Amino acid sequence: MSDLNQDQWFTEVFDSHGSAFALRISEKLLDVQSDYQHLEVYATETYGNLMVLDGCVMLTDRDNFLYHEMIAHPALFTHEDPKRVVIIGGGDCGTLKEVLRHEGVEKVTQIDIDEEVTKAAERFFPSLVESNNDPRAELLFADGVKWVDDAEDESIDVLIIDSTDPVGPAEGLFKTDFLKRCHRILKPGGVLVQQSESPLYHSGSIIRELRSDMQAAGFESVATLPFPQPVYPSGWWSVTLAGKGASVERFREEAATGHEMPLQYYTVEAHRGALALPPFMRAAFA
Ligand code: SAM
Repeated sequence: MSDLNQDQWFTEVFDSHGSAFALRISEKLLDVQSDYQHLEVYATETYGNLMVLDGCVMLTDRDNFLYHEMIAHPALFTHEDPKRVVIIGGGDCGTLKEVLRHEGVEKVTQIDIDEEVTKAAERFFPSLVESNNDPRAELLFADGVKWVDDAEDESIDVLIIDSTDPVGPAEGLFKTDFLKRCHRILKPGGVLVQQSESPLYHSGSIIRELRSDMQAAGFESVATLPFPQPVYPSGWWSVTLAGKGASVERFREEAATGHEMPLQYYTVEAHRGALALPPFMRAAFA
Protein backbone atom coordinates (compact mmCIF):
# COMPACT_ATOMS: atom_id res chain seq x y z
CA MET A 1 0.00 0.00 0.00
CA SER A 2 1.41 3.41 -0.77
CA ASP A 3 0.37 6.99 -0.79
CA LEU A 4 1.93 10.28 -1.86
CA ASN A 5 -0.05 12.64 0.34
CA GLN A 6 -0.46 16.38 0.13
CA ASP A 7 2.68 17.04 2.16
CA GLN A 8 4.62 15.16 -0.53
CA TRP A 9 5.58 12.13 1.51
CA PHE A 10 5.84 8.70 -0.11
CA THR A 11 4.63 6.25 2.51
CA GLU A 12 4.83 2.46 2.38
CA VAL A 13 2.46 0.95 4.94
CA PHE A 14 3.17 -2.56 6.32
CA ASP A 15 -0.35 -3.25 7.40
CA SER A 16 0.32 -6.72 8.77
CA HIS A 17 2.86 -5.29 11.22
CA GLY A 18 1.15 -1.99 11.97
CA SER A 19 4.11 0.07 10.80
CA ALA A 20 5.13 2.32 7.91
CA PHE A 21 8.16 3.98 6.33
CA ALA A 22 8.03 7.37 4.62
CA LEU A 23 10.34 9.62 2.62
CA ARG A 24 9.78 13.26 1.74
CA ILE A 25 9.50 13.57 -2.01
CA SER A 26 10.47 16.52 -4.17
CA GLU A 27 9.28 15.16 -7.54
CA LYS A 28 7.75 12.15 -9.28
CA LEU A 29 10.12 11.18 -12.09
CA LEU A 30 8.45 8.10 -13.59
CA ASP A 31 5.16 6.23 -13.45
CA VAL A 32 4.89 3.15 -15.68
CA GLN A 33 2.54 0.18 -15.63
CA SER A 34 4.63 -2.60 -17.19
CA ASP A 35 3.30 -6.01 -18.21
CA TYR A 36 4.31 -7.26 -14.74
CA GLN A 37 4.19 -4.47 -12.18
CA HIS A 38 3.61 -0.80 -11.39
CA LEU A 39 6.96 1.00 -11.46
CA GLU A 40 7.51 4.46 -9.97
CA VAL A 41 10.61 6.58 -9.45
CA TYR A 42 10.68 9.62 -7.17
CA ALA A 43 13.29 12.22 -6.30
CA THR A 44 13.46 12.43 -2.50
CA GLU A 45 14.79 15.28 -0.41
CA THR A 46 17.45 13.29 1.47
CA TYR A 47 17.75 9.73 0.03
CA GLY A 48 18.43 10.56 -3.63
CA ASN A 49 16.18 8.78 -6.10
CA LEU A 50 13.71 6.15 -4.93
CA MET A 51 12.43 3.16 -6.96
CA VAL A 52 9.06 1.66 -6.04
CA LEU A 53 7.47 -1.53 -7.46
CA ASP A 54 3.79 -2.22 -6.79
CA GLY A 55 3.88 0.28 -3.93
CA CYS A 56 6.91 -1.36 -2.24
CA VAL A 57 10.21 0.46 -1.83
CA MET A 58 12.91 -1.31 -3.90
CA LEU A 59 15.89 0.95 -3.43
CA THR A 60 17.21 4.44 -2.89
CA ASP A 61 20.49 6.02 -3.96
CA ARG A 62 21.45 6.53 -0.33
CA ASP A 63 21.24 3.05 1.16
CA ASN A 64 21.15 0.48 -1.67
CA PHE A 65 24.82 -0.36 -1.06
CA LEU A 66 23.85 -2.28 2.08
CA TYR A 67 21.57 -4.69 0.24
CA HIS A 68 23.66 -5.04 -2.90
CA GLU A 69 26.92 -5.71 -1.04
CA MET A 70 25.28 -8.21 1.31
CA ILE A 71 23.49 -10.18 -1.39
CA ALA A 72 26.67 -10.44 -3.48
CA HIS A 73 29.84 -10.62 -1.38
CA PRO A 74 29.03 -13.17 1.36
CA ALA A 75 28.02 -15.70 -1.32
CA LEU A 76 31.00 -14.94 -3.56
CA PHE A 77 33.50 -15.14 -0.69
CA THR A 78 31.85 -18.37 0.53
CA HIS A 79 32.26 -20.17 -2.80
CA GLU A 80 35.78 -21.59 -3.23
CA ASP A 81 36.33 -20.15 -6.72
CA PRO A 82 33.27 -18.51 -8.29
CA LYS A 83 33.52 -18.26 -12.08
CA ARG A 84 29.99 -18.64 -13.41
CA VAL A 85 27.34 -16.53 -11.65
CA VAL A 86 23.61 -16.11 -12.34
CA ILE A 87 21.31 -13.43 -10.93
CA ILE A 88 17.55 -14.00 -11.03
CA GLY A 89 15.73 -10.64 -10.75
CA GLY A 90 18.07 -7.79 -9.84
CA GLY A 91 16.92 -5.65 -12.80
CA ASP A 92 18.24 -2.49 -11.18
CA CYS A 93 21.74 -3.96 -11.87
CA GLY A 94 23.19 -3.07 -8.44
CA THR A 95 23.89 -6.71 -7.61
CA LEU A 96 25.45 -7.26 -11.03
CA LYS A 97 27.84 -4.37 -10.37
CA GLU A 98 28.95 -5.93 -7.06
CA VAL A 99 29.45 -9.38 -8.62
CA LEU A 100 31.58 -7.92 -11.41
CA ARG A 101 33.98 -6.48 -8.83
CA HIS A 102 35.27 -10.07 -8.38
CA GLU A 103 38.04 -10.50 -10.93
CA GLY A 104 37.81 -14.31 -10.90
CA VAL A 105 34.23 -14.21 -12.16
CA GLU A 106 34.21 -15.13 -15.85
CA LYS A 107 30.54 -14.71 -16.73
CA VAL A 108 27.44 -13.26 -15.00
CA THR A 109 23.97 -13.66 -16.47
CA GLN A 110 21.19 -11.49 -15.05
CA ILE A 111 17.63 -12.60 -15.81
CA ASP A 112 14.93 -10.12 -14.85
CA ILE A 113 11.35 -10.58 -15.99
CA ASP A 114 10.83 -6.84 -16.54
CA GLU A 115 12.99 -4.75 -18.88
CA GLU A 116 11.28 -1.56 -17.64
CA VAL A 117 13.16 -1.91 -14.32
CA THR A 118 16.52 -1.87 -16.08
CA LYS A 119 15.44 1.02 -18.34
CA ALA A 120 14.47 2.99 -15.21
CA ALA A 121 17.84 2.18 -13.59
CA GLU A 122 19.64 3.40 -16.73
CA ARG A 123 17.79 6.73 -16.58
CA PHE A 124 17.58 7.39 -12.86
CA PHE A 125 20.26 5.26 -11.13
CA PRO A 126 23.31 5.64 -13.41
CA SER A 127 25.78 4.48 -10.74
CA LEU A 128 24.08 1.05 -10.55
CA VAL A 129 24.40 0.34 -14.27
CA GLU A 130 27.98 1.55 -14.67
CA SER A 131 29.37 -1.99 -15.11
CA ASN A 132 26.71 -3.18 -17.57
CA ASN A 133 29.09 -2.96 -20.51
CA ASP A 134 31.59 -5.31 -18.89
CA PRO A 135 32.14 -8.09 -21.46
CA ARG A 136 31.50 -10.70 -18.73
CA ALA A 137 27.93 -9.42 -18.19
CA GLU A 138 24.88 -10.79 -20.00
CA LEU A 139 21.46 -9.17 -19.46
CA LEU A 140 18.36 -11.19 -20.30
CA PHE A 141 14.70 -10.27 -19.88
CA ALA A 142 12.71 -13.42 -19.14
CA ASP A 143 11.04 -15.35 -16.35
CA GLY A 144 13.74 -16.60 -14.00
CA VAL A 145 11.75 -19.74 -13.16
CA LYS A 146 11.65 -20.75 -16.82
CA TRP A 147 15.34 -19.85 -17.31
CA VAL A 148 16.36 -22.12 -14.44
CA ASP A 149 14.24 -24.94 -15.91
CA ASP A 150 16.06 -24.68 -19.22
CA ALA A 151 19.58 -24.39 -17.76
CA GLU A 152 22.04 -27.29 -17.91
CA ASP A 153 22.68 -29.55 -14.92
CA GLU A 154 25.61 -28.53 -12.70
CA SER A 155 26.56 -25.48 -14.77
CA ILE A 156 26.54 -22.60 -12.21
CA ASP A 157 28.84 -21.72 -9.29
CA VAL A 158 26.77 -19.03 -7.55
CA LEU A 159 23.04 -18.42 -8.04
CA ILE A 160 21.68 -15.15 -6.64
CA ILE A 161 17.93 -14.69 -6.24
CA ASP A 162 17.49 -10.91 -6.06
CA SER A 163 13.74 -10.81 -6.36
CA THR A 164 10.81 -8.77 -5.21
CA ASP A 165 8.75 -10.03 -2.25
CA PRO A 166 7.09 -13.46 -2.60
CA VAL A 167 3.90 -12.15 -4.24
CA GLY A 168 3.14 -11.34 -7.90
CA PRO A 169 5.80 -12.33 -10.46
CA ALA A 170 8.27 -13.38 -7.72
CA GLU A 171 5.91 -15.86 -6.02
CA GLY A 172 7.36 -18.84 -7.90
CA LEU A 173 10.86 -17.91 -6.74
CA PHE A 174 10.03 -18.84 -3.15
CA LYS A 175 8.68 -22.35 -3.81
CA THR A 176 10.41 -25.63 -2.80
CA ASP A 177 10.11 -26.95 -6.30
CA PHE A 178 12.02 -23.94 -7.66
CA LEU A 179 14.78 -24.43 -5.09
CA LYS A 180 15.12 -28.06 -6.18
CA ARG A 181 15.60 -26.91 -9.74
CA CYS A 182 18.19 -24.36 -8.55
CA HIS A 183 20.01 -27.17 -6.75
CA ARG A 184 20.10 -29.16 -10.00
CA ILE A 185 21.83 -26.41 -11.99
CA LEU A 186 24.47 -25.65 -9.33
CA LYS A 187 27.81 -27.39 -9.60
CA PRO A 188 29.00 -29.40 -6.57
CA GLY A 189 30.34 -26.81 -4.11
CA GLY A 190 27.81 -24.31 -5.51
CA VAL A 191 26.21 -21.56 -3.42
CA LEU A 192 22.68 -20.19 -3.64
CA VAL A 193 21.71 -16.89 -2.03
CA GLN A 194 18.24 -15.44 -1.80
CA GLN A 195 16.96 -12.17 -0.32
CA SER A 196 14.88 -13.35 2.60
CA GLU A 197 12.85 -10.47 4.05
CA SER A 198 12.90 -8.98 7.57
CA PRO A 199 14.51 -10.84 10.52
CA LEU A 200 12.16 -9.00 12.89
CA TYR A 201 8.93 -9.59 10.99
CA HIS A 202 9.60 -12.86 9.14
CA SER A 203 12.04 -15.06 11.11
CA GLY A 204 9.25 -17.38 12.30
CA SER A 205 7.45 -17.43 8.95
CA ILE A 206 8.99 -16.68 5.52
CA ILE A 207 12.65 -17.12 6.56
CA ARG A 208 12.01 -20.27 8.58
CA GLU A 209 10.05 -21.78 5.67
CA LEU A 210 12.68 -20.76 3.13
CA ARG A 211 15.41 -22.43 5.21
CA SER A 212 13.48 -25.64 5.54
CA ASP A 213 12.59 -25.56 1.81
CA MET A 214 16.31 -25.15 1.02
CA GLN A 215 17.13 -28.19 3.14
CA ALA A 216 14.29 -30.15 1.53
CA ALA A 217 15.70 -29.18 -1.88
CA GLY A 218 18.99 -30.93 -1.00
CA PHE A 219 21.16 -28.11 0.36
CA GLU A 220 23.17 -29.47 3.31
CA SER A 221 24.17 -26.11 4.77
CA VAL A 222 22.00 -23.01 5.28
CA ALA A 223 22.83 -19.63 6.87
CA THR A 224 20.72 -16.49 7.25
CA LEU A 225 22.67 -13.23 7.43
CA PRO A 226 20.88 -10.14 8.81
CA PHE A 227 21.96 -6.62 7.94
CA PRO A 228 20.55 -3.10 8.30
CA GLN A 229 18.32 -1.75 5.52
CA PRO A 230 16.63 1.48 6.63
CA VAL A 231 14.13 1.70 3.76
CA TYR A 232 12.71 -1.85 4.01
CA PRO A 233 9.99 -3.01 6.40
CA SER A 234 11.34 -2.88 10.01
CA GLY A 235 14.62 -1.30 8.79
CA TRP A 236 16.34 -4.68 8.98
CA TRP A 237 16.72 -7.26 6.20
CA SER A 238 18.36 -10.61 5.48
CA VAL A 239 19.84 -12.89 2.87
CA THR A 240 19.85 -16.67 3.21
CA LEU A 241 22.73 -18.71 1.78
CA ALA A 242 22.55 -22.41 0.94
CA GLY A 243 25.46 -24.67 0.03
CA LYS A 244 25.42 -27.69 -2.29
CA GLY A 245 28.02 -29.94 -0.67
CA ALA A 246 29.71 -26.88 0.80
CA SER A 247 29.42 -25.16 4.16
CA VAL A 248 28.03 -21.63 4.08
CA GLU A 249 29.07 -21.07 7.70
CA ARG A 250 32.67 -20.54 6.59
CA PHE A 251 34.10 -18.18 3.99
CA ARG A 252 37.42 -17.21 2.40
CA GLU A 253 38.44 -14.72 5.05
CA GLU A 254 41.83 -13.97 3.51
CA ALA A 255 40.32 -13.07 0.16
CA ALA A 256 37.60 -11.06 1.87
CA THR A 257 40.31 -8.99 3.59
CA GLY A 258 42.92 -8.74 0.88
CA HIS A 259 40.85 -7.26 -1.96
CA GLU A 260 40.85 -3.69 -3.22
CA MET A 261 37.15 -3.31 -3.91
CA PRO A 262 35.82 0.07 -2.75
CA LEU A 263 33.07 -1.38 -0.52
CA GLN A 264 31.01 0.65 1.92
CA TYR A 265 29.53 -2.00 4.23
CA TYR A 266 30.87 -5.51 3.63
CA THR A 267 33.98 -6.47 5.62
CA VAL A 268 35.28 -9.72 7.06
CA GLU A 269 34.02 -8.59 10.47
CA ALA A 270 30.57 -7.69 9.11
CA HIS A 271 30.36 -11.13 7.48
CA ARG A 272 31.44 -12.92 10.69
CA GLY A 273 29.05 -10.81 12.74
CA ALA A 274 26.14 -11.57 10.40
CA LEU A 275 26.84 -15.31 10.78
CA ALA A 276 26.51 -14.97 14.58
CA LEU A 277 22.73 -15.12 14.75
CA PRO A 278 20.88 -13.36 17.57
CA PRO A 279 19.20 -15.81 19.98
CA PHE A 280 15.66 -14.90 18.89
CA MET A 281 16.48 -15.90 15.30
CA ARG A 282 18.16 -19.11 16.41
CA ALA A 283 15.06 -19.93 18.41
CA ALA A 284 12.80 -19.18 15.43
CA PHE A 285 14.83 -21.53 13.19
CA ALA A 286 15.19 -24.38 15.74
N1 SAM B 1 16.15 -5.09 -3.66
C1 SAM B 1 14.82 -5.47 -3.91
C2 SAM B 1 14.03 -5.99 -2.74
O1 SAM B 1 14.48 -6.88 -2.03
O2 SAM B 1 12.91 -5.51 -2.52
C3 SAM B 1 14.74 -6.35 -5.08
C4 SAM B 1 15.23 -5.59 -6.26
S1 SAM B 1 14.98 -6.13 -7.85
C5 SAM B 1 14.39 -4.59 -8.51
C6 SAM B 1 13.68 -7.26 -7.90
C7 SAM B 1 13.41 -7.70 -9.32
O3 SAM B 1 12.88 -9.02 -9.34
C8 SAM B 1 12.42 -6.82 -10.08
O4 SAM B 1 13.11 -6.09 -11.04
C9 SAM B 1 11.44 -7.84 -10.72
O5 SAM B 1 11.14 -7.51 -12.06
C10 SAM B 1 12.24 -9.14 -10.60
N2 SAM B 1 11.44 -10.36 -10.65
C11 SAM B 1 10.30 -10.65 -9.99
N3 SAM B 1 9.86 -11.88 -10.35
C12 SAM B 1 10.74 -12.38 -11.26
C13 SAM B 1 10.83 -13.59 -12.00
N4 SAM B 1 9.91 -14.54 -11.88
N5 SAM B 1 11.89 -13.75 -12.84
C14 SAM B 1 12.84 -12.78 -12.98
N6 SAM B 1 12.78 -11.62 -12.31
C15 SAM B 1 11.77 -11.41 -11.46
